[in-house]
Amino acid sequence: MTTNLHYLIAGMAVLLVVLWQYSHQRQMDDRNSLMFRRLLTVVSLDVLAELVSTCFILYAPYSFGVGRMLSNTVFYLFQALLPLMLLYYVCTLCSSRVISTGTVLRMGIPTIVLVFIILTNPFTEKLFYFDSTGYCHGPWYLLLYISALLHIAAAAIFVAVHRDAVSRRNLTALLTVFLLAAFGIAAQAVNPAVLTTGFGLSLSILAMYLTINNPCACMDSLTGLNDKQYLLRRMNELTDAHKAFHIITVYAYQLDHMNKVSGVQSGDEFLRRAAEHMQEIAGRNVFRVTGKRFLLLTFSLREYEACLTSLRQVFHTQPDDAQAAPSPVILCGVVGAEKLGTGGLVLDYAEYLESLAARSGGTEVIQNDRKNRDSFYYNKQVEQFLHRAIDEDLFEVYYQPVYSLHQQRFITLEALSRLRHPTLGWIAPDIFIRLAEKNRLISQITELQLRRVCRFLRENPALRASIANVKINLSPLDLIHSDGGSHLIRILDEYGLPYSCFQFEITETVATEYSASLTRVAESFQAAGIGLCLDDFGSGYANLNTVMQLPFSVIKLDRSLLFHICTDKNAALFYQSIVSAFCRLGYRIIAEGVETQAEMELLRSWNVDMIQGYYFSRPLPPGDLLRLLTEEAVEQM
Ligand code: C2E
Ligand code: CA
Ligand code: CA
Repeated sequence: MTTNLHYLIAGMAVLLVVLWQYSHQRQMDDRNSLMFRRLLTVVSLDVLAELVSTCFILYAPYSFGVGRMLSNTVFYLFQALLPLMLLYYVCTLCSSRVISTGTVLRMGIPTIVLVFIILTNPFTEKLFYFDSTGYCHGPWYLLLYISALLHIAAAAIFVAVHRDAVSRRNLTALLTVFLLAAFGIAAQAVNPAVLTTGFGLSLSILAMYLTINNPCACMDSLTGLNDKQYLLRRMNELTDAHKAFHIITVYAYQLDHMNKVSGVQSGDEFLRRAAEHMQEIAGRNVFRVTGKRFLLLTFSLREYEACLTSLRQVFHTQPDDAQAAPSPVILCGVVGAEKLGTGGLVLDYAEYLESLAARSGGTEVIQNDRKNRDSFYYNKQVEQFLHRAIDEDLFEVYYQPVYSLHQQRFITLEALSRLRHPTLGWIAPDIFIRLAEKNRLISQITELQLRRVCRFLRENPALRASIANVKINLSPLDLIHSDGGSHLIRILDEYGLPYSCFQFEITETVATEYSASLTRVAESFQAAGIGLCLDDFGSGYANLNTVMQLPFSVIKLDRSLLFHICTDKNAALFYQSIVSAFCRLGYRIIAEGVETQAEMELLRSWNVDMIQGYYFSRPLPPGDLLRLLTEEAVEQM
């Protein structure tokens, strides 16, 4: 038999290149990367052992019998071990769970038997032996090939069963790995003179390195830090292994501002410097989670406290300090983050905590406590419930009537959503609307509400005759919908009600932030004869100029403007001036949140006509509203 070394040498060259490249890259600590490193080492040793043993067979004199037997036995041992390692490698890719000792042993039984056969081979000569002609196959020589191919088949079946846990990209990569390895083994089984097993394995390793285990693929190119995908994998593994860990997130909330004021390059420079500072503090355990958010992973309370102290120093905003990172951040600490469940939940919780921190222009620190954790879980429960509530249309509509002081009766209604959770009870609309907006479910809620209001109006023609319209709250997503609001008009068409029965409310913040895309939609509503009302005026920082460009006919003054109008002259003067300015511009005004007679009297003296607030009526369920309006009608007769 003339053995051909070429494939083996080529395989070794490939492995050397991978070893060289890989050792110069940022190492990763997740289980799959660890397994890849072991596989890379063992494949390299295997190919080396095969080279040595083949050289012994080809070139060593007959007297080197022990060396020949020893090198070949070592090579066979590597060959027996490798398929099992490939199987473990696949397991670490498909699941973040630690493989139990029992499973490891069960999976290893064929390999243990094989190792026994290899170790006893010098006496039994079942696999190979040497005679005067050189290397000879024993009767069981195909055993190693069969074992390798069966292991690959088992790995392929395992992947097929767990395919949902593996990305499409990784599935393709694994398929390549299996094919290359199996092809190398099968080719050598058919023609033992071509040493393609080692070559196939080295190509498999190359395929893994270029796809699944490429450290660059999990790296943020700007900062060189590992990314969110890798962090999630790492956190899930820690959680599954019940290992305690604590996190600190660093949220650069003023990055947009910095980009606008000093240019994107300054923003990039800030991020790079911040990443360097953080790496000095936490070494490899720093991750860039999103554009503005970093995360530091720590494994002891001491380390956590030390990191937090150092971060406070780094981000303590001192304009003169050249070493300090020049932008304030929100530092958010979570001790015992593994208790939250999954990596995704840890990030959600950190984001939730960040949303609670004040954004005063300085660096803020917020840490988890019981209250925050409880309210986070409350939000999560609501978030999960929203899907069911939409599917089963569990929402209700309450109506808050608006009173006209001139006409001395209720003249319009605002439709307000209500949702009751089976165990949590009524959920505040502010909460479920915010969560629906965050989860992009709001358009579905708007549609359900609009249909409910339409049904209510159609069933109650007397109500339709007594009020001017029903006001419906719209959210940004309803407005930037691709078909520019015509889906809302289509819903109204389905019920055959006049468009003038409806008025859409758009909040001041939405009107300011989305004014460009809003203009088209607002104009289409106006053309259809649907009125527009600017909601919550005075609650934020409306850009009046852009708001004026939009075709609003009614302006609702926010409840916050009412505070202190009865006790503070300036507050009163301010409110009155806004009212008179808007009246002169031709807008109709609704004063929102009126609770007391004193407030109502003042507003009347300033010529405010429409009043919405608990003083006249709270939002009411449909039945109560109809009763209230009927009683009012009877009184006026
Ligand atoms: P909003 O549009 O500003 O609605 C007025 C809110 O003020 C309502 O709260 C109402 O109950 C409350 N309110 C009315 N008068 C008084 C008063 O005299 N005193 C006080 N303290 N509050 C008063 P609600 O029903 O809790 O709704 C909160 C917010 O949730 C609404 O604010 C609106 O932004 C949003 N929302 C409610 N339903 C919907 C909906 O179907 N779609 C959308 N997009 N948002 C909705
Ligand atoms: Ca409203
Ligand atoms: Ca409002």
